Amino acid sequence: MDLAYTEAEEEFRRRLREWLAGALPGLPPKPSPDDWPARRAYDTTWQRMLYDAGYAGLHWPADAGGRGATPTQHLIYLEETEKAGAPYVGANFVGLLHAGPTIAAEGTAEQRARWLPPVLRGEAVWCQGFSEPDAGSDLAALRTRAVRDGDSYVISGAKTWTSHAEVADWCELLVRTDPDAPKHRGISWLAMPMDAPGITVRPLRTLAGSREFAEMFLDEVRVPVRNRVGAENDGWRVTMVTLSFERGTAFVGEVVACRRTLDALADEARRNGRWDDVVLRRRLGRLNAEFRALWRLTQWNVAESERTGGVPGTGGSVFKLRYSGARQELYGAAAEVLGGGDAFDLDREWVLDRLSSLSYTIAAGTSQIQRNIVAERILGLPKGR
Ligand SMILES: Cc1cc2nc3c(=O)[nH]c(=O)nc-3n(C[C@H](O)[C@H](O)[C@H](O)COP(=O)(O)OP(=O)(O)OC[C@H]3O[C@@H](n4cnc5c(N)ncnc54)[C@H](O)[C@@H]3O)c2cc1C
Repeated sequence: MDLAYTEAEEEFRRRLREWLAGALPGLPPKPSPDDWPARRAYDTTWQRMLYDAGYAGLHWPADAGGRGATPTQHLIYLEETEKAGAPYVGANFVGLLHAGPTIAAEGTAEQRARWLPPVLRGEAVWCQGFSEPDAGSDLAALRTRAVRDGDSYVISGAKTWTSHAEVADWCELLVRTDPDAPKHRGISWLAMPMDAPGITVRPLRTLAGSREFAEMFLDEVRVPVRNRVGAENDGWRVTMVTLSFERGTAFVGEVVACRRTLDALADEARRNGRWDDVVLRRRLGRLNAEFRALWRLTQWNVAESERTGGVPGTGGSVFKLRYSGARQELYGAAAEVLGGGDAFDLDREWVLDRLSSLSYTIAAGTSQIQRNIVAERILGLPKGR
């Protein structure tokens, strides 16, 4: 398989680099990680700049308002924006990287026209209402009920770990529409407006001190039936599409950021004398090899999806598994390079990154679950339970 870039792709890279060099100095300073309204404003401003320059929704299909760029161009985009230190998707994560692509793949023409352009223009932020207090890894055990009443569903239940719920306009919500069906067959995928009466959002503080996610309580919330994506009770299939985007493509850009962080760590180790520690040097070397391998795996996955077209497959679980582990290891090494626990300056972004790296092997499906998927669906081993 040829993983080299073509001349046209290199030209795309040159033009993007030029634009980034002009656009980035005009950005306002990044707000504090805890000020979500300000972070939302910052992230959506950046999204609008991308839109105006023609770089929004690069990887979305053209008939969904995207640029219809090839996955390779999207990879170049991720590489260049990370290298230039451009903002990451932030509050636009769900809308751009999994709800939007799901609606593009599964929504009706009316739904695409209604929901996708505001995401691309930075006017609408989405969150993901999948997990519940008793339904995380076993997502199909979800109990939030939606009862049909005329043209609406009336929804009651509780969701948890809903990232960005405080600042979101829309939620991709999983509900149980048939309580009597086997658990995977009675679920529907809905777009819920976050200003609907009956929604209570209660922020949760993370280990890193941020109120990035929240509990969400739904008390007879009315959502129009036309907000359902896919058929009634066919939500599990639609969910698999969402999860394959989440695991397959949503974290790819961060690999470049991790490689940059690793270079910065090596520089710091050379500067502060830690480089003489051969065990630490080996650890950094192993990480370097791991991130290079992850980038190659990403290129391979992209080339594969270019070949087969459409939605990413279960290979995304291999990426998610290795990436989340490597990221944790990277920030573990960072703690060592920077001097360990007590020597941390608590204002430093390093500390926040170190603490939040611990969540990567849980968010978007735990490592154990990714291993189950790899074992059952890729290696064809018998089901665990
Ligand atoms: C930073 C962060 C952001 C998040 N954002 C969102 C969001 O925006 N929206 C949303 O809906 N959710 C979100 N989540 C929730 C996340 O998807 C769940 O935490 C995750 O799916 C695990 O579910 P759980 O926490 O209920 O753990 P549990 O399902 O209770 O699992 C506990 C442990 O048991 C293991 N386990 C469970 N079942 C099996 C099995 N069959 N085989 C092997 N091991 C098993 C798990 O791997 C885990 O180690 C977020 C989580 C984090 C950490």
